[in-house]
Amino acid sequence: MKIIDSVATLTNELEYLPVGSSVGFVPTMGALHRGHIELVRRAREQNDVVVVSIFVNPTQFNDANDLEKYPRTLEADCQLLECEGVDVVFAPSVDQVYPEPDSRVFDLGGVDQGMEGAHRPGHFNGVAQVVSRLFDIVRPTRSYFGEKDFQQVAVIRQLLSSMSLPMEIVTVATVREESGLALSSRNMLLTAEHRAVAPSIYGVMSEATKMVGQMSVADVCCWVVEQINQTALLEVIYFEIVDVETMAPIVEWKDAEVVQGCIAVQAGEVRLIDNIRFK
Ligand code: AMP
Repeated sequence: MKIIDSVATLTNELEYLPVGSSVGFVPTMGALHRGHIELVRRAREQNDVVVVSIFVNPTQFNDANDLEKYPRTLEADCQLLECEGVDVVFAPSVDQVYPEPDSRVFDLGGVDQGMEGAHRPGHFNGVAQVVSRLFDIVRPTRSYFGEKDFQQVAVIRQLLSSMSLPMEIVTVATVREESGLALSSRNMLLTAEHRAVAPSIYGVMSEATKMVGQMSVADVCCWVVEQINQTALLEVIYFEIVDVETMAPIVEWKDAEVVQGCIAVQAGEVRLIDNIRFK
């Protein structure tokens, strides 16, 4: 496995692959867990060459404190990736990815407007900046994204359609602890007390899916927020039930064919997100 930190070296490496080689790409911010590994395994199954990037992208953080405390575990990450048969780890510095400040503003078709987009101004534009830059460098055949970041997948699909790159996006179901808590690099920042109550986020949403058609959308939303806020340690930032096509909230269950409940919760210093299919 090669660990590469410069764009020039990576470009050179990928240029000399045998003609017709398929390249699977898994972009990450590191602090890897089984969720990331699931993406890597899928990429390994489906491609000749697997590239994993590890880059904590400053342009997608709207909170300097969040960026600073984001976990960084490069050595352990590389060991894990070596065991999974990854060919190349691309772990660049900020200067390599952004030799000049990136001032591009992306039109993401509206799917970036609500939820994470509304609560983290500039977040998805930063995601689009880094992902478009990485796609340009790696030129993958397939790229792998987790449903854990549900709105992000919609944003990436929009981005791809505007870039006209011949690439497949593969999505992977959220990997969870046995308790139901979605695996996240941020979980390691939770205190023991917050960790103990965090599984209720998924637990409450799962219960709520049984109420489809029996209670109004608004009542289900209120119920979820109330249940989770009952514990003093968790505070719901938003919970929305959205049309998966537009990421816009639905009013009636019949408003969309496929709907997803998406949540962000503050657990002490840590912000957690999760989602579940409602219909
Ligand atoms: P991150 O390092 O948090 O930027 O995540 C890198 C990729 O891993 C993204 O596509 C995430 O959606 C995905 N991912 C993160 N956590 C999980 C999880 N628990 N299950 C599946 N995919 C995940």
